[in-house]
Amino acid sequence: MNSEDTVKKDFIRDIIDEDLRTNKYDGRVHTRFPPEPNGYLHIGHAKSICLNFGIAEEYGGLCNLRFDDTNPTKEEEEYTRSIIEDVCWLGFDWEDRLFYASDYFDQMYKYAIQLVKDGKAYVDDLSAEKINEYRGTLTQTGRNSPYRDRSVEESLNLLEQMKAGEFADGEKVLRAKIDMAHPNLNMRDPVIYRTLHATHHRTGDKWCIYPMYDWAHGLEDSVEGITHSICTLEFENHRPLYDWFLDALGVYHPQQIEFARLNLTYTIMSKRMLLELVEGRYVNGWDDPRLPTISGMRRRGYSSAAIRNFCKRIGVAKVNSMVDLEFLEHCVREDLNKTAPRFMGVLRPLRVVIENYPEDKVEEMEAINNPEDPGAGTRKVPFSRVIYIEQEDFMEEPPKKFYRLAPGREVRLRYAYFVTCKEAVKDDGRIVELRCTIDPATRGGYAPDGRKVKSTIHWVSVEHAIDAEVRLYDRLFTVNDPAGQKNADFKEFLNPNSLEVLKSCKVEPALGNLKPFDRFQFERLGYFCVDPDITKENLVINKTVGLRDTWAKIRKQQQMNKLDS
Ligand code: ATP
Ligand code: MG
Repeated sequence: MNSEDTVKKDFIRDIIDEDLRTNKYDGRVHTRFPPEPNGYLHIGHAKSICLNFGIAEEYGGLCNLRFDDTNPTKEEEEYTRSIIEDVCWLGFDWEDRLFYASDYFDQMYKYAIQLVKDGKAYVDDLSAEKINEYRGTLTQTGRNSPYRDRSVEESLNLLEQMKAGEFADGEKVLRAKIDMAHPNLNMRDPVIYRTLHATHHRTGDKWCIYPMYDWAHGLEDSVEGITHSICTLEFENHRPLYDWFLDALGVYHPQQIEFARLNLTYTIMSKRMLLELVEGRYVNGWDDPRLPTISGMRRRGYSSAAIRNFCKRIGVAKVNSMVDLEFLEHCVREDLNKTAPRFMGVLRPLRVVIENYPEDKVEEMEAINNPEDPGAGTRKVPFSRVIYIEQEDFMEEPPKKFYRLAPGREVRLRYAYFVTCKEAVKDDGRIVELRCTIDPATRGGYAPDGRKVKSTIHWVSVEHAIDAEVRLYDRLFTVNDPAGQKNADFKEFLNPNSLEVLKSCKVEPALGNLKPFDRFQFERLGYFCVDPDITKENLVINKTVGLRDTWAKIRKQQQMNKLDS
């Protein structure tokens, strides 16, 4: 195994090892990934998916996909569909274990009745505001609700009426009877059910009371026989409540384990903020390639293998931290370098006429598909008298370190010939065309006399080129931590130049055979992929990531800083 394939042991795997040693769950390992269908999944969810499904795979256990659909007002069918698609695409299989929290609503309600009967829950008439006020603070104990001591009979009746729809939203709630002086605020008689007349996307109008997250989650885990319920750190101080509910009911009791959520620089990961960007049309939908959503990254050209590898390499920890976006890009680049076929494409074309090349001659030049993968073979690229090169590969008055084409200078046309520029043709001061000659003896790009050139540039034959629209992406935000800026809205830090659309690009004909989501490298330019929204007439290409690896530089700097401190 190489370093990428090795799963590092971490505190969660240590816990599981120990549980297996002591036979805590009869040798079972059963995890789940429990998204709420109120948005598209993002790279943070990918970390959780890789962790939960990954652990199940490693230990020969099982992992369920479970929709935590307990909040009907924010949830939609579209989100459910996209989540299923994304988990599949990431390469994980829940087999026949796709569950919905709403499947357990009847069971949850029965459990609630049991709690009331045992004197461990009561119906409260206080408003949400009052409940809040009575809860107290970290430094002040709470006060009992005046309804806390109503009889079991009365609470049972009221609960029935709540379920039957006899109360308005917010009029009554069911609360656990725990301890209003508990140092942990979550334990101060938390709400279990709220009244909410809303249509649920799966249960329709059957329910007008809905379970609260803390109540529902542990029950879902318990019903499904989960062994290790892995969640993010913000639930750490909900764990006593998770345990209390399951103990109070005397049901099967999984173990909740918290880990640090993934944060990425220059990225927001909150579904609320992502929704705001989508609804406010700051981006073009949930799968906009600038978003950290899984569907956005897929459209951008990230492979699922690269994302899985990234998740594996960042590992899991117990303290929150920020991962550099460059590290994700590094993983993407590393994967594409091995797998992406190479092509030539010109983003900002400049016409070049090769004066000593016959008018109707076409030669098929042999090009290497992927130097990193000898098995990928070669292809033919047509060469002719008129070609396009990149505008930025020519300068009329080149400064010192500019080694590309300039008047009187010879460079290599990749896979073709040495070319020398004779003249730049101008129109109104603007360069519109170059007149050049090639050395016919350098066919294939090498001179028999051994002379060298200082640079190699890419090109496309005008007659054979395909038109393409290329979309270049930059970071969506201008600051490292857009969600964490004091007294400022994260949208103030949107990068106005995050998308640049180039409409008149010219690419080699082989690109015409590619399908949506196919990934490739444009030589010298970076990695790209075909956008799903292409038509026969319009080839749209997204830039995935550049060729230069900035991560190596950052890591070096980090190591230096460590040495300094
Ligand atoms: P919200 O609660 O704001 O709706 P969420 O990001 O918690 O959003 P869920 O659908 O509840 O969304 O998340 C599903 C699972 O993914 C949870 O177990 C959650 O802990 C995990 N998860 C969410 N965000 C991250 C993240 N940034 N890093 C790691 N895991 C995450
Ligand atoms: Mg959540």
